Amino acid sequence: MSQAAGQEPGAGLAAARTAYEELRAQDLRLDLTRGKPSPEQLDLSDALLTILQPGDVRAADGTDCRNYGGLQGLTELRTVFAELFQVPVDQLFACGNASLSVMHDVLAHAMLSVLPGAKRRWADEDEIRFLCPVPGYDRHFSLCDRFGITMVPVPLTGHGPDMDVVEELVAADPRIKGMWCVPKYSNPTGETYSDETVRRLAAMPTAAPDFRLFWDNAYAVHHLTDEPDAVLPVLAACAEAGEPDRAFVFGSTSKISTAGSGVAFLGSSPTNMAWYSRLTAAQTIGPDKVNQLRHARFFPDAAAVGAHMERHRALLEPRFAAVYEALEEELGGLGIANWTSPRGGYFVSLEVPEGCASEVVRLAKDAGIALTPAGAAFPGGRDPRDSQIRLAPSFPSVGEVRAAMRGVAVCVKLAAAEQAAA
Ligand code: PLP
Repeated sequence: MSQAAGQEPGAGLAAARTAYEELRAQDLRLDLTRGKPSPEQLDLSDALLTILQPGDVRAADGTDCRNYGGLQGLTELRTVFAELFQVPVDQLFACGNASLSVMHDVLAHAMLSVLPGAKRRWADEDEIRFLCPVPGYDRHFSLCDRFGITMVPVPLTGHGPDMDVVEELVAADPRIKGMWCVPKYSNPTGETYSDETVRRLAAMPTAAPDFRLFWDNAYAVHHLTDEPDAVLPVLAACAEAGEPDRAFVFGSTSKISTAGSGVAFLGSSPTNMAWYSRLTAAQTIGPDKVNQLRHARFFPDAAAVGAHMERHRALLEPRFAAVYEALEEELGGLGIANWTSPRGGYFVSLEVPEGCASEVVRLAKDAGIALTPAGAAFPGGRDPRDSQIRLAPSFPSVGEVRAAMRGVAVCVKLAAAEQAAA
């Protein structure tokens, strides 16, 4: 990437510095770090606060939701989300309030108890490794850190991980026990795994007999277009490939209803779910069924979830549009930045010249614009090319997104000009 065509390097740098000083003088206080729903999005689910009245506490099968029990979660809620998460209803649990804690628990269980197909507990292995498609979700990497799991980055291609790399690694290394996958509208690249990617992940020979895909379908219904992406049902693909126990499927309503007070789900093969159920029974007598009943009333079927997600989309689309408009106006055609325009999910991934991402984030911070730290989407917080920045436009207002992105563009121009002049 180079200086804008036709500009003297010195003149470009001086202009970029002036623009940056003007930006700083605006004394902005803007935040593009938070991949969380805006207050307006949360308002969409306010009915959850009053949907149950005294006396209305029984599930369809007569279960009194105020009492203990029902480890698997409410059947009517599981039925709705089984369709959306592409898991047979008998193999889907409705759990607590966050899928991240279910991922944590599955890892903890695998550490402490022998997974189906494993020779020993993961805690008894010398080393456990997970493949981490990058850029990826930083909290997956925090879980690996927490459990002492070595992270092995693998590149993404725009339609999922580079499968030639993945197949070679898992075939050769029995220490590779797992792989993080965000198959739809991935965080942060927005890409969706192709059918071929899913089939190859399901069928690839692995040196570890207890290899698992950690299939985090966090954005299963979070579309931003009229033609939603579709992902092959991973459990069916694994079963067809003769690897029925290969995948754990995670999801939640965090960005459907309320974040932190929604319902999380776990799905897998009957064998894996029996294993999980047995271990979880030691941990809890049952999930929060009152919250599950509220969700079941609010989302009586998959169509109700779809209609609700359209209302989210109406709030999200203008924010994403503001990102593209500002980037196109300020950086389009300059050859110093690329960005994704995802068909769903919560993020835009901005690519700046190699070696510039940290500097862009620093400049933005000094100008009052908070960005996700450069490198956050990579294991260890280190982007080897120092070029990727995650933009999260969902939370601020449209006006704030526009102002923040214009400011980011000024920072990109200055960082690129400084680098070109160095
Ligand atoms: N997985 C991915 C890929 C995410 O982006 C997020 C939130 O940003 C989560 C999981 C968190 O989900 P939960 O709120 O269910 O823990």
